[in-house]
Amino acid sequence: DSSVCAPLAVLGRDVTVPLVTGGEVTYAALDYAASAPALQRVWDDVAAYAPYYGSVHRGAGYLSQLSTDLFENSRTTVAEFLDCREDDQVVFTRSTTDSLNLLAAALPADCQVFVFETEHHASLLPWRDARVTYLNAPRTPGEAVRTLERALADRDPHGPALVCVTGASNVTGELWPVRELAAAAHAHGARIVLDAAQLAPHHPVSVRELDVDWVAFSGHKLYAPFGSGVLAGRSDWLRAAEPYLAGGGASRKVARRPKEAGGGVDVEWHDTAARHEAGSPNVIGVYSIASACKALTEAGFDELVARERHLIRTVREGLAEVPAVRVLSLFGDDAPRVGVISFVVDGWNSSHFAAALSAEYGIGVRDGLFCAHPLVRTLLGGESDEPGECGAPEAAPGEKSLNAIRVSFGAGTPDEHVERFVRAVK
Ligand code: PMP
Repeated sequence: DSSVCAPLAVLGRDVTVPLVTGGEVTYAALDYAASAPALQRVWDDVAAYAPYYGSVHRGAGYLSQLSTDLFENSRTTVAEFLDCREDDQVVFTRSTTDSLNLLAAALPADCQVFVFETEHHASLLPWRDARVTYLNAPRTPGEAVRTLERALADRDPHGPALVCVTGASNVTGELWPVRELAAAAHAHGARIVLDAAQLAPHHPVSVRELDVDWVAFSGHKLYAPFGSGVLAGRSDWLRAAEPYLAGGGASRKVARRPKEAGGGVDVEWHDTAARHEAGSPNVIGVYSIASACKALTEAGFDELVARERHLIRTVREGLAEVPAVRVLSLFGDDAPRVGVISFVVDGWNSSHFAAALSAEYGIGVRDGLFCAHPLVRTLLGGESDEPGECGAPEAAPGEKSLNAIRVSFGAGTPDEHVERFVRAVK
């Protein structure tokens, strides 16, 4: 498709799917916020490397050494992609969820955590063993900053504290005022971790410019396949913490303890990123993340952002012409956003609507509460937290919907996919 910037072409452009109405159509992947298709470039890089991959940090053979080099160089690539500080650490994990759980496991004793109730469950839930303050849903970015400032002003100023915030919402696509929230956190002696799962695939993320202490993101949303993720940032808390997983690779030295000292083993753990990467790492996953970071850096975000703005406008203007559609928004129509848009259709069960988009038009979207139940319920105006994500009954015309439909896109999305989506909704 000529509307797609060539270096950011993705896999799956020619995949056809059957329609219930008969015949086939090319698949319109409009669920990037769940998992984005891989960049063709990433796939090519992985295919070129695959015959050579070997064990990392564990082999004397040439291919093991080659893989170890590529694995360690991938840290540098990711650190450059995120514009990390000199002494930041890049830890490879399985996903954003894994990264945030790792940080939660590394919190210093008595750490207070501040998190908006609007967060994705991956950023909302890992802190439950700490003292958590859940902040109310703000209705403007400014209110978010004031809410955080008020909460931090009340905290015990001597103990450690962490703020966790998303960069771009996986429900509304809206950008959060990360730099301002980081400034507020630091002014009150707290640290901040940025959940960049939805931000990094659409916008440059600079650790230095945003002045955040950590960033977490997932490869499978950043146009890289396979189960890998990143936690990048300050090394002190991570170095002081018990290893996330105990095992080979995390330990520098393991020695038998003398019988007279009670027996057993003594362990010295690494104090580098390896401390939290026990076990044989996902070398292909890590390589594919680094490849995606390189591809995005080389292509630059300007064209991606401009194209996405055009696609967002097409979808929003199209939806605005359908009176039964209500687009969900926390910060209002003019808020800057990425290509993630959720909506409800008056009189329709969202799950049926999404199923019809798939069966009748070959369009893949998502329906439900998007692992952000409190936020979606706030946006739907529901008083109650029931029922659950599945089995929501049909909403009669004029009644409130109980779940929503989400359309999301990014690098490699051709105009035709969003145009077909708008036509289908109409
Ligand atoms: N945070 C946000 C904002 C997300 O959208 C997601 C995925 N939907 C996650 C965290 C979790 O990412 P993963 O499933 O890759 O761990």
